[in-house]
Amino acid sequence: MNDLTASVAQALDAAHHLHPFTDFHELNEQGTRVITRAEHIYIEDIHGQRFLDGMSGLWCCNLGYSRHEIVDAVTKQLNTLPFYNNFFQCTHPPAIELAAQIADMSPPHLNNVFFTNSGSEGNDTVVRMVRRYWDLKDQPSKRMIISRENAYHGSTIAGASLGGMSGVHKQFETLPYVTHIAQPYWFGDNNGMEPEEFGRVAAQALETRIQELGPDNVAAFIAEPVQGAGGVIIPPESYWPEIRSILERYDILLVMDEVICGFGRTGEMFANIHYGMKPDLVTFAKAVTNGYQPLGGVLVGDRVAEVLKSRGGEFGHGFTYSGHPAACAAGLATLKILREENIVQNVKAVTGPYLAKRWAELKDHPLVGESRTLGLFGAIELVKNKATRERFSPSGYAGMVCRQASLDNGLVMRATGDTMIIAPPLIISCDEIDILVERAKAALDDAYKTLTAT
Ligand code: PMP
Repeated sequence: MNDLTASVAQALDAAHHLHPFTDFHELNEQGTRVITRAEHIYIEDIHGQRFLDGMSGLWCCNLGYSRHEIVDAVTKQLNTLPFYNNFFQCTHPPAIELAAQIADMSPPHLNNVFFTNSGSEGNDTVVRMVRRYWDLKDQPSKRMIISRENAYHGSTIAGASLGGMSGVHKQFETLPYVTHIAQPYWFGDNNGMEPEEFGRVAAQALETRIQELGPDNVAAFIAEPVQGAGGVIIPPESYWPEIRSILERYDILLVMDEVICGFGRTGEMFANIHYGMKPDLVTFAKAVTNGYQPLGGVLVGDRVAEVLKSRGGEFGHGFTYSGHPAACAAGLATLKILREENIVQNVKAVTGPYLAKRWAELKDHPLVGESRTLGLFGAIELVKNKATRERFSPSGYAGMVCRQASLDNGLVMRATGDTMIIAPPLIISCDEIDILVERAKAALDDAYKTLTAT
């Protein structure tokens, strides 16, 4: 497409399209990047410029952009049964099979699936299920849900209330029964503690909050195993075991939001396996369909499912498109590829360790205060002074400069404040990781020049 078409596209976009999480005014001054095609792990814009997609779309295209098996499965399903709902004692083969397969590939105590269209709706479902569970158990006072600052759990009222983004909370009234504790962000908040000690202290904030609220009033704790949108915050190894023992002590449900971590990102099918956790509820979305169709849901542990099923009554919750046949067909095709191509095992044994080795080289760069990875997650902290960890001012500026430098070098790398993050497709090869790391280095060099030129 030529530049005239590009400028028309941008003008129409500015005139009619309100984008998610966007400063509309600022965007319209700058103009949008119009992405027109994608192939394997590369996206291409309307000018024909290609970028290695270091973010898998939005943490979802873990198998890349060229999986025709998924497209074919969706097409076939649309030609067979394009829609039917799962209400009123009805269902259809794709929803049945996908629920069974997700249960089969998850830890043994997770055997039931409730489908939604997104991660946000998954977390809305969690709020409803948690409340229903305690009501049915005759413990209706257990209502408070503890979450964490800087968490991301979606953008519906419930999702954004569970989330801990303070800027977002300023824009609406959050749910009164959600409260937040500090996140386990060692690089930012360690106060001189070593990671292990810091992890335990961060977890103990949960116990303190439970005691403040009274254990009889606390229904659940929700957390991402690794905070994604918050900046790929990988907790110290001591964190999750401590959380597990606190929750068991006070009989509080654990909800792990695996919308980003699920389906292989950490090198295990689910991150709760990596951390040795036993969540009661697991939210999933995104990579379950490789991002080709909107689908999310909640994996429900036996403890909760048995109460919902046996003490029952109608659970008054669900969406028209809960378990949409085309989305479930995409899910089935995605899971088949994950299994047949040993994608997750390869992340654990080959590409995850290789990324860890190559990404660690960035630590030597004058702009980098810390580099970290887990599976195919990566993050780097941008600092002005490596020794003191002083940041550039204003906050977030270095991140913006580095993000632009990254695009200029043909790499999509995301900035969360002054933390640069990546989550490349799980099909990336070691040679392609080399390309990614070289482009990230070039971006850091260019950003350094810009940030130190005065
Ligand atoms: N939970 C987590 C951990 C997420 O990262 C996201 C989306 N980035 C969501 C929930 C919300 O998912 P969706 O955008 O599909 O509603």
